[in-house]
Amino acid sequence: MKTPNPIEHIDYWQKNEETMNRIALESLQRERLMNTLRRAYEQVPLYRMRCDNAGLKPGNLTIPDDIKRLPFTTSDDLRQHYPYGLLAIPREDVVRVHTSSGTTGKPKAVFFSKNDLDQSATLIARCLIMTGTRKGDTLQNMMTYGLFTGGLVMHYGAEKVGVLVVPAGPGNSDRQIALMRDFETTVFHMTPSYALYLASILQERGIDPRRDLHLKRAYLGAEPYSEETRKKIEQIYGIDVYNSYGLTEMNGPGVAFECQYKNGMHVWEDHFFIEIINPDTGEVLDEGQEGELVLTSLSREAMPLIRYRTRDITKIISGTCDCGRTHRRISRILGRSDDMFVVKGVNIFPQQIEQVLMGIKGVAQNYQIVLDSYDHLTVNVEISIGLFDGNIEHLLQLQSEIADKVRASILVKPKVELHEPGSLPVSEGKAKRVIDNRTL
Ligand SMILES: [Zn+2]
Repeated sequence: MKTPNPIEHIDYWQKNEETMNRIALESLQRERLMNTLRRAYEQVPLYRMRCDNAGLKPGNLTIPDDIKRLPFTTSDDLRQHYPYGLLAIPREDVVRVHTSSGTTGKPKAVFFSKNDLDQSATLIARCLIMTGTRKGDTLQNMMTYGLFTGGLVMHYGAEKVGVLVVPAGPGNSDRQIALMRDFETTVFHMTPSYALYLASILQERGIDPRRDLHLKRAYLGAEPYSEETRKKIEQIYGIDVYNSYGLTEMNGPGVAFECQYKNGMHVWEDHFFIEIINPDTGEVLDEGQEGELVLTSLSREAMPLIRYRTRDITKIISGTCDCGRTHRRISRILGRSDDMFVVKGVNIFPQQIEQVLMGIKGVAQNYQIVLDSYDHLTVNVEISIGLFDGNIEHLLQLQSEIADKVRASILVKPKVELHEPGSLPVSEGKAKRVIDNRTL
């Protein structure tokens, strides 16, 4: 039986860049940051106007200290200046566009030059090598191909390494299973909710992934998820699961990735300048404090973004990593500042509840949080089929165990409803975990 691997031989895609000493790395950041600010000021009217209004000229700034004086860029800026307003190169030098749609209004368009595409593939190649993927592996990419970056950006990065890529896209689980058998897939790229869903399908079909498949590792992204979920997926599949972080506005996947030590995600700081801010005040927080991640691109040609507010909540993990990489790490994403909801005056992220659920024996893969009022929440939980054994005592015990453990974590006691496996709505893309029925 396979178990997650001990640390393999450490290898690098770009050893010099990945292990550069901090002084050299910070000096490179300053140079690239200055260059980015100058180009943005010269080429993008919005940035020029904002700098002028704030009385700032790129040439007069002390880098990086003065970066705090620059205004933030937000997703609203991308929407308002859709499609070409933030473009910093001639239109004919753009070779690809990706978009990201929100729940309302116009999409956000993100452009790539040829160099930008090559750079994004290189950063993915670093991530894959960092986690032990090599030429000879088969990577089944179950992210959506098309305007979403999760498909194509990962695809070209994996090809750069020399991996056999199966561009499966999401959904159609029986086809996914056939592909992973036929091509002896060793690496997955998918959302955590789909990994859990697929596990339930494998179980229904009588396939034991540890015995019947060739999987070694998975890259999970596009949705935040808890450490307990990672352990659960590792356990079910007998693989190593690595956290990855990216966003369309910054190339897509490959901004930050875990190494084999799985202790935070290395941010490629030669290409991204990171800050953590208080999401309410915009104040820059000290290293180690939890807040919203703000990114400035350092090498993107087509569409440099300065102090872009990601809305993702994390913190910087200080200290060196045993893998030898000098690029700082961020913790797993705790949630999106947008996803946070308030019940009884308490700030709650869905992942806090998920973390509790995934650690309770008898809880199956799917759950949903329903908000009907401002002082009450309901957690719908699918539980193992074996628990429907006619003994109501068992169900009541589990129900109160869940309620107590959730309360211990979030300080609010939820109403808990238990459901049979497969009875809650599932999605093969991003899961919708929170149903907010409240009106102001
Ligand atoms: Zn490391």
